[in-house]
Amino acid sequence: MAAGWQDVVRDAAAVREAAAVAVDAALLAGVLMRTGEQPNASDVVNYAPFTLLPSAVPRALFEQAYAVQQDFNLLVDAVSQNKEFLEQTLASTIKVDDFTARLFRIYMQVLEEGLAQTVFLGINRSDYMFDCGLDGTAALRQIEINTIAASFGGLTSRTADVHRLVLKVLGKTEEASHLLPNNPAKGLALGIAKAWELYGSQRAVVMFLVEEVQRNIFDQRCVENELWNRNIRVVRKRFRDVFEQGSLDASRRLYMDGQEVAVVYYREGYVPQIYDQQNWEARLLLERSRAVKCPDIATQLAGTKKVQQELSRPGTLEKLLPGRPEAIARIRATFAGLYSLDEGEEGDRIAATAIADPDRFVLKPQREGGGNNLYGEELREVLEKIKDNPERTSYILMDKIRPQPALNYLLRAHSPLQVSECISELGIFGVYVRQGQELVLSQAAGHLLRTKAIEHADGGVAAGVAVLDTPYLV
Ligand code: ADP
Ligand code: MG
Repeated sequence: MAAGWQDVVRDAAAVREAAAVAVDAALLAGVLMRTGEQPNASDVVNYAPFTLLPSAVPRALFEQAYAVQQDFNLLVDAVSQNKEFLEQTLASTIKVDDFTARLFRIYMQVLEEGLAQTVFLGINRSDYMFDCGLDGTAALRQIEINTIAASFGGLTSRTADVHRLVLKVLGKTEEASHLLPNNPAKGLALGIAKAWELYGSQRAVVMFLVEEVQRNIFDQRCVENELWNRNIRVVRKRFRDVFEQGSLDASRRLYMDGQEVAVVYYREGYVPQIYDQQNWEARLLLERSRAVKCPDIATQLAGTKKVQQELSRPGTLEKLLPGRPEAIARIRATFAGLYSLDEGEEGDRIAATAIADPDRFVLKPQREGGGNNLYGEELREVLEKIKDNPERTSYILMDKIRPQPALNYLLRAHSPLQVSECISELGIFGVYVRQGQELVLSQAAGHLLRTKAIEHADGGVAAGVAVLDTPYLV
């Protein structure tokens, strides 16, 4: 994968010129973020961090990731409808992990009441790294699948244009013509629009459930604007607005200050810190409603690390997707080694192995959003401490993936221009809509490539570690 830009990457003058063009192109294209100082105003904005050069991605692995996306749509949807599987899988986790337990309680509560929701919308992003074997060949390995608030589908719809221009500036016109078009924002909006239409009320709106701190608003605006283009009204609300303005009518239609809501698209709600008592009440109100939640709480639970680990057990996929051996084979081919730390002999053994050789593994709690995983010495210390304690059950272990690094420049506002050794993570967006038992739409909606310097073990773009990139297929 070293293929690429050896000739230009060390040419300081060419790099400086291309970087200046790149930054202005990003601003013009709308690859934007609000600033840390003014996260809730658009008076001062900056470009979202991105690589100067597109990164090489093996074509076969890129195609493999697209080819398995509909299978993952099917799998996530199947897990979300399988109460027995979710109950069994999360039984040990919810004893020790309070956040998962609270989500699970809402899940059970809405099931007991009976679901009012009949249309289901899933927007997910399956993330992969390219694991470099001893013989130098790379394999596609799933890092995780995000079933709630999967972001950057908007901004990444605009990065290929920037990289195309950069390559031209660097004299690589032919290579520039090979960059693929990519428009996840349109694909996500298509799914939301379909769900809105099936909900069946012209006057009802789509509600984006957004954070208190909205630095990444432009990413969301890309999707919003696609909906406005289809003459679908969009409103942006926070949990606390829902607490104050939300209500259900007798048939559990959701209203915000009298305005009916057809679809609730969560871009918030996946970290424990944002939930106070009022926000939990708001979440419960939304889940009880007839509105199409993207995702419903069952689908959020289907995206936990614990579920991911249980899916890798022999025989589990066969139970969840009966009669679909080909889909199962495609899915399983992307799995890395995943290990349960549940109490018992199996967990004891893998805990001991990881303590003896921590660099082989990543230790993951049931959290989303980057920066939560443990590596190396820290992994060893934590595992030593909790190895004889039920608390270890709130984590899973995963084989560490080792991609081949490549040189690139990470462009960030107010940061010096310097070359870094980088690794990339490819995400494929999946969108599906189900009405009752009928899957009416399921597709791969585009891709996201994020790249980071190798010294950072963890973290995504929002966490300030990775930057936006464009795949250059080799
Ligand atoms: P989160 O829900 O916080 O995004 P992830 O499982 O995606 O959790 O992990 C966060 C980051 O940690 C990933 O983007 C990747 O850079 C790194 N990471 C996660 N799992 C592995 C792994 N098995 N091998 C190498 N790096 C990993
Ligand atoms: Mg992740």
